[in-house]
Amino acid sequence: MSSIRYISTRQGSREPVERLAFQEAMLAGLARDGGLYVPETWPSFSADDLRSWRGLPYADLAVKVMTPFVGDAFDAATFQRLVRAAYASFEHAEVTPLKALPVDNLHLLELFHGPTLAFKDVALQLLGRMLDETLGRAGRKARIVGATSGDTGSAAIAAVRGLKSVDIFMLHPHGRTSEVQRRQMTTVLAPNVHNVAIDGTFDDCQDLAKACFNDLAFRDRHRLTAVNSINWARVMAQIVYYVYAGLKLGAPDRPVSFCVPTGNFGNIYAGYAARAMGLPVDRLVIASNGNDILTRFMETGAQTMAGVVPTLSPSMDIQVSSNFERLLFDLHERDGRALARAMTDFRATGTMKGTAAQLMRARSVFAAGRVDDEGTLKAMAEAYRDTGEILDPHTAVGYAIARQRRGDPAIPMVVLATAHPAKFPDAVERAIGRRPDLPDRLTDLFGRPERCMMLDNDIGALRDLMDTTSA
Ligand SMILES: *Cc1c(COP(=O)(O)O)cnc(C)c1O
Repeated sequence: MSSIRYISTRQGSREPVERLAFQEAMLAGLARDGGLYVPETWPSFSADDLRSWRGLPYADLAVKVMTPFVGDAFDAATFQRLVRAAYASFEHAEVTPLKALPVDNLHLLELFHGPTLAFKDVALQLLGRMLDETLGRAGRKARIVGATSGDTGSAAIAAVRGLKSVDIFMLHPHGRTSEVQRRQMTTVLAPNVHNVAIDGTFDDCQDLAKACFNDLAFRDRHRLTAVNSINWARVMAQIVYYVYAGLKLGAPDRPVSFCVPTGNFGNIYAGYAARAMGLPVDRLVIASNGNDILTRFMETGAQTMAGVVPTLSPSMDIQVSSNFERLLFDLHERDGRALARAMTDFRATGTMKGTAAQLMRARSVFAAGRVDDEGTLKAMAEAYRDTGEILDPHTAVGYAIARQRRGDPAIPMVVLATAHPAKFPDAVERAIGRRPDLPDRLTDLFGRPERCMMLDNDIGALRDLMDTTSA
């Protein structure tokens, strides 16, 4: 089998065109020309392949779906071991269980049974293990630097804690994460985990992390790597649960739709990939909170930057959707130079206008809608009343939009449940008048010791800290 190669969405714009193997794309994260890696071609699954996978346990299905993407980065037995270990860390035997709801032929795909109770665990639990295996075999080490406002940081730390070949510096804004989110990070005492509270905002943290990467000498000296949502390996791991849910609902013999609460377009882009590979997906619905740049694009054909407004679904509070560039690459007929120019203009002017043909093409797959905080609370209350389910505010945004943009009611619509309600107890209480039960994974969180460093919002201080901490 010839392995899939990965190309940058801005290929040809600066560097000579690169065609990377899976492990190279995984280690690099972002391409050096500023683009994102995408597979040069999509592997495709026939209807017979899909039928033969019905009923497979999650980890076995995951191996089938991902093997064409990893190529020869791992031998078959090693890859199977990594995948099984990643999904053994989930509390639910089905990993991502699918629940039928008693309204509108809706289904809930629960992606929150991992160690930190949010969907990011699905990809990061595997990514941590793949990095460690790849680096360990080569006798190399790498250092992860990231910035978080909450969820991403805890999932990344849970994914790499205790690994031999990777250490992590996770920056969070001091005093600006919820206590549960902070404790999910700072109570991890593994020696390869370095929590750094920055005296500043989340944007300051992001700027510091970016500055580390932009200093190429520093980047190379520390072998910096990023595990944020633009890393191709994360998208790949997320494709699996679309296929898993589709098969349960009758694919490939029946179509299925998905509604995805999204900010950075990472999760829903994996649904687009599943469709490109042969899963019969009828429509993919983008569910936005008040930070609705994606929904505005689907309505008007233009992306326009706006300031971030804080909402009840903070993991979707973004200004620009980084993974959207992967869809734009296809909308630009995979012309990396044209897309690089468009992205440069977008950064300079704050606006990017698509052509009518591009918009039509996007609309042939995607629908979109938005709800504000009031609509989110209302959706949580309605879901509780009509289905008995307690939804977290992110999932509630998906539920609300799924009902608004239902389409053909004969086609099952799967709402992706991206966080456990116990991560957002205040919003849940406001919506339904009671606090969600704390799952076992969180009950002793408040009794555990914490470890964290405080640092000024100063790149020199961060560099010194990293230079003096040995890997
Ligand atoms: C990160 C996150 C999202 C948004 O994911 P995207 O990759 O931006 O689509 C939604 N819900 C929760 C709970 C998250 O943590």
